[in-house]
Amino acid sequence: MATETRASEGLDKYLELIEVRGVSRRTFLKYCGATAGMLGLSASQGGVIAEAIAAEADNVAAARPSVVWLNFASDSGCTESLLKSSYPSAAELILDTISMDYNETIMAPSGEAAEKSRKDAMEAGGYLLVVEGGVPTKDGYGMIAGMNMTAILDEMAPNAAAIIAVGSCATFGGVPAMDPNPSEIEGIQEYLGDDFTVINLDMCPVNPRNLAATIVSVIVLETVPELDEYGRPLIFHGQTIHDNCERRAHFDAGNFVEVLGDENEGKGYCLYKVGCKGPMTHSNCPDVRWNDRTSWCVGAGGPCIGCAEHGWPDEFAGFYERLAGVKIPGIGGVEAGADKLGAGLAVATAGGIAVHAVATGVSKRGKEDGGSE
Ligand code: SF4
Ligand code: SF4
Repeated sequence: MATETRASEGLDKYLELIEVRGVSRRTFLKYCGATAGMLGLSASQGGVIAEAIAAEADNVAAARPSVVWLNFASDSGCTESLLKSSYPSAAELILDTISMDYNETIMAPSGEAAEKSRKDAMEAGGYLLVVEGGVPTKDGYGMIAGMNMTAILDEMAPNAAAIIAVGSCATFGGVPAMDPNPSEIEGIQEYLGDDFTVINLDMCPVNPRNLAATIVSVIVLETVPELDEYGRPLIFHGQTIHDNCERRAHFDAGNFVEVLGDENEGKGYCLYKVGCKGPMTHSNCPDVRWNDRTSWCVGAGGPCIGCAEHGWPDEFAGFYERLAGVKIPGIGGVEAGADKLGAGLAVATAGGIAVHAVATGVSKRGKEDGGSE
């Protein structure tokens, strides 16, 4: 009871502080409730998350959870996505509770001082390793401070408590790995192999709400969300965009945009005929949206190009080319294609893995390689 009272006082104090920063109590508590929902928890768990974040923020004496963010082969769009969420957002407050010890794009130190930050974090161990971009495996392609990116990943992965690959380049190679893939880029899980568990947060770029919720899960709740067969959290990638699309009623009614920019686009008609890959793309985009849930690709009138899906972009039709194999209401005829792909994407579980289990897997490899735990 005494602990509960102290925690509530701590939360009260934190809520007062964030109001000064322009985030109302209501916004923050609503955000925590929504994050609990995103993680598949009950609404009451939102209060637990809020209390834990407040306690983390208040605990200035303790070291904040360390995050090392590596930038590999990408356009740094995921860092941009994170930074350009409106300021100050509730998501940023969560990110404030961590210590971003290394991120080349935004950190103040450079050169040897930056390298020292990375090495210090590596030696301390137990950090959350976030990787943006694929890893070029061809020798001499993709170097930082004179080291191949492969060597940097080899150094940083074994001592991490958990590893998150953000954006389609880090998850499965993305645009930099497109055929003919001259620098032989691989996704982070593919490169590290089965000794490591990588949480794949797909999309180009990563959605900051999905990232913040995953950080809450890993750091605050100490749990890796249940993953599908591609290492993506099921809570974010368990359903197709088509399942939850706001234009779906028009699809079912046979109302389609025939040419991008026609009057039916503004009426909210379905974008399937102008290339929408929503029927084969598993992602929560219609719910999380972008720019603090203002809008999203399909909502803004652009067909989904499938950036959250394994195999994107090589295995997808052109951005505006019609997806084969979708049964169109009133026209009929199911071909192999989207339905077949959808079946192939049936989920497998790696769920409920505690963070310490990830660390155990990681340290196993570290020991075999003679590295530190
Ligand atoms: S095809 Fe695309 S625009 Fe049409 S309902 Fe499905 S996801 Fe929405
Ligand atoms: S709607 Fe489609 S293209 Fe847009 S972010 Fe989501 S998966 Fe990517």
